[in-house]
Amino acid sequence: MSYAQVAVDETKLSGHEGPEAAVGAAVRRARAAAPAWDALGHRERGARLLRWRRVMTRRLDEIVGLLEDEAGKVRADALIELAAAFEHLGWAARNAGPVLRRRSVRSGLLMLHQRSTVEYRPYGVIGVIGPWNYPVHTPLGSVSYALAAGNAVVLKPSEHTPGTGRWLADTFAEAVPDSPVFEVVTGDGAAGAALCRSGVDKVAFTGSPGTGARVLAACAPTLTPVLLELGGKDALVVAEDADVDAAVEAALWGGCSNAGQSCAGIERVYVAEAVHERFLQRIAQRARDIEGGADGDYGRMALAGQLDVVRRHIDDALARGARAVAGGPESVVPPYVTGPVVLADVPEDADAVREETFGPVLVVNRVRDAAEGVARTNASAYGLGGAVFARRGGVRLARSLHAGMVSVNDVLTFTAVGALPFGGRGRSGFGRIHGADGLREFAAPQALTRRRFAPPLAVQTFARGPRDMVRFERLVRRRGAR
Ligand code: NDP
Repeated sequence: MSYAQVAVDETKLSGHEGPEAAVGAAVRRARAAAPAWDALGHRERGARLLRWRRVMTRRLDEIVGLLEDEAGKVRADALIELAAAFEHLGWAARNAGPVLRRRSVRSGLLMLHQRSTVEYRPYGVIGVIGPWNYPVHTPLGSVSYALAAGNAVVLKPSEHTPGTGRWLADTFAEAVPDSPVFEVVTGDGAAGAALCRSGVDKVAFTGSPGTGARVLAACAPTLTPVLLELGGKDALVVAEDADVDAAVEAALWGGCSNAGQSCAGIERVYVAEAVHERFLQRIAQRARDIEGGADGDYGRMALAGQLDVVRRHIDDALARGARAVAGGPESVVPPYVTGPVVLADVPEDADAVREETFGPVLVVNRVRDAAEGVARTNASAYGLGGAVFARRGGVRLARSLHAGMVSVNDVLTFTAVGALPFGGRGRSGFGRIHGADGLREFAAPQALTRRRFAPPLAVQTFARGPRDMVRFERLVRRRGAR
């Protein structure tokens, strides 16, 4: 029986009882296993997580097959996803100790008699809810960091990729049989909702803004903290001095790899008028070389509903006066978009500019200069990632984007850098996975002071005398006046 079949059978089973029972049991098992996992310490946990990575690597062909079957990926996209996921697992395993362990901080003059330390302690059990578009990399962005920080995890994968979720649990159990701290509960949205209400100590959600809002609402009554990694409408800004050919390649790859189903994929391109014509000619020419299909450069659209969105955005843009410089409505041939669709001169209030398309469709609009490109980029309600192409001043432009991550003269590179935080602002959510911030997201800071000696000036006691207060007031005035 395949992983997908096992998971589907479980879904049916939980469908009889409602998902609460299965979710509740998984959370209870995770909670029972969590203290021993915490007690292992960072080094031992890290060693086990690296063992998990080795098992997954040994069983690479299985997961590539699942990503092809369940998510419709071509092999190249599956391997790129796995490489990024493994990079983060390794980074989290190796860096949890240095980032989270107890460290001393200065106590300051008033508290000189205290030794002050801060430490990041695990929450307990983290509920992770993942989407279908990167069913390994995206959930593991939370799972790896949460486990490395000393938590147990219950994952609810997308109902469209249950076999992938099951495979993650199975490889973990093989690699770390003595620590049952990673549970996977398959099922549909109701299972995700049940996880929000299950009493987990934090929920890490990745998905669409609409579901993210429902997750936030479900967690509100219990004040369960939430991390939200939501959608994006990322833009690439091409400055007047940019390497146009390189920008075209990056736009096509950033917009069309994984069939455009990437939260931080490029969906809009703002090109300075000095190079706009050259950019359009070049992208129209290069787009013809790229194919969607089972043996193509990118795979199928994972969901029929997503194809409808893609078709609607193309039709709406064309009806509003945009022109297709590559592909068009005829490119939508279920389950594929057969080649990149490049739309020029799209009105800024069209759905293709404002809403997440989540397909291999690029809007290319002319702007006066890079500064106007930045302004239009920032007009979006989303604020996930972005990119800038410029020979000079690229970093300055990047810093002015309202986005959680930006690549300069490249696209999407930040996703695979272990040390860099990943997350958005605005409609793209809040909180961070990856890097030191991602580790701290799954740990609660605990501040600690320990008295080293009696204070020379004791005022935080009712045993203080009037002379102590006179000296203290003098000290307060002197320090405050500095
Ligand atoms: P959805 O929001 O539809 O679903 C995400 C997850 O939530 C799925 O596991 C889903 O289950 C579950 N779910 C559905 N309803 C509820 C509920 N009421 N309570 C709790 N959980 C629920 O997103 P998609 O799966 O369609 O993923 C695509 C979206 O994810 C895009 O917007 C994309 O941009 C975003 N995304 C963001 C990333 C980021 O890091 N910022 C990374 C990757 C994707 P089920 O599938 O079984 O219905």
